[in-house]
Amino acid sequence: MTLTQQFEDRFGHPPAGVWAAPGRVNVIGEHTDYNEGFVLPFAIDRSTQVAASMRNDTTVRVSSTFSRKSELVISELDELTAGGVEGWAAYPVGVLWALRQAGHEIRGMDLLIDSQVPVGAGLSSSAAIECAVAVAANELHGLGLSGSELALIGQRAENEMVGAPTGVMDQSASLLGKHGHAVFLDCRSQHAELVPFPLQEEGLALLVIDTRVSHSHATGGYAARRRSCEVGADVMGVAALRDLSEGDLAEASGLLDEETFRRVRHIVTENARVQATVELLRSEGPRAIGPLLDASHVSMRDDFEISCAELDLAVDSSRGAGALGARMTGGGFGGSAIALTQVEDIDRVRAAVMEAFAGAGFTEPLVFAVSPADGAGRVP
Ligand code: ADP
Ligand code: MG
Repeated sequence: MTLTQQFEDRFGHPPAGVWAAPGRVNVIGEHTDYNEGFVLPFAIDRSTQVAASMRNDTTVRVSSTFSRKSELVISELDELTAGGVEGWAAYPVGVLWALRQAGHEIRGMDLLIDSQVPVGAGLSSSAAIECAVAVAANELHGLGLSGSELALIGQRAENEMVGAPTGVMDQSASLLGKHGHAVFLDCRSQHAELVPFPLQEEGLALLVIDTRVSHSHATGGYAARRRSCEVGADVMGVAALRDLSEGDLAEASGLLDEETFRRVRHIVTENARVQATVELLRSEGPRAIGPLLDASHVSMRDDFEISCAELDLAVDSSRGAGALGARMTGGGFGGSAIALTQVEDIDRVRAAVMEAFAGAGFTEPLVFAVSPADGAGRVP
């Protein structure tokens, strides 16, 4: 049954349309977003769809094929407060709430969500939902908001309704992505540039290795890293770690305690690696960026300490089987690694990773390729 038919079954009338928004993978630039630095994600070829229609009142009714009990969540926009919606519905309802908070006149909607973005794998199923609802609401309410504006709305929903203190990278990638390109985002100015990322044409693939280690227990670690970064910026007298360069690290090592220094060093060197990756993509293409991916992983493992045994093994075993470069991706403490691989080596890399995980007694990982796809929009 199509999503349109399921919507009719559910709500008793047809939707006004179907909108889709992709998940994303971050090629490089981890934990740099909230330090007002650089990131380089791309929108992936797996997305979330939302069938949507307008209502004449201020009630939101939302359902998802994801919740097995086919639960219908009903919210009154007039009565909503930050943090006032529990569970998965906080993402879609939070977007409508955030649009209202930003001063837009928003009516009630009926929404049915379906998604092919794996949940909790570090591919941002959360931003995919937010952005699908955001583009649907934008069009049906005739708001005329840009992708960058909608990204901030999605971020606000996630920060204030869901309560997750995340940056604006995921939503930007989902909204601004383009087939065959990565999104080079300056998280301070929100300026985004598309950078060619021709994988297929170069005989390459980007494998995602989902360790299936849940990153949900990471909340404490994530908050602690944010705090270290704030302390580092404070002591160094800058607005954000984005304002430091590698030349400042000698001074930083004298002023900061050993652990805070390593946290700062990761952010400073990671920002430099993102910029170097963009330059290499423009001058030589994706085949050249492997060593930067490897260096990023080492920095996250040793300096920022957000990796785990499964992520390290995913990286080491894929590199050992011929991957050109590999790193953990996402917030860390679980989730996924990525491996840049020649197409002819995909099977060998996958087999090596599977064998290494079995040998270590870890849960069998999921290994699949992703490619840079178009950002959110209406499904024709
Ligand atoms: P990630 O974004 O890395 O996949 P998050 O924890 O940020 O992980 O977001 C996952 C949450 O998003 C899920 O726990 C659920 O609340 C919500 N979610 C994801 N996919 C769906 C879906 N298809 N329908 C409803 N909610 C979903
Ligand atoms: Mg998320």
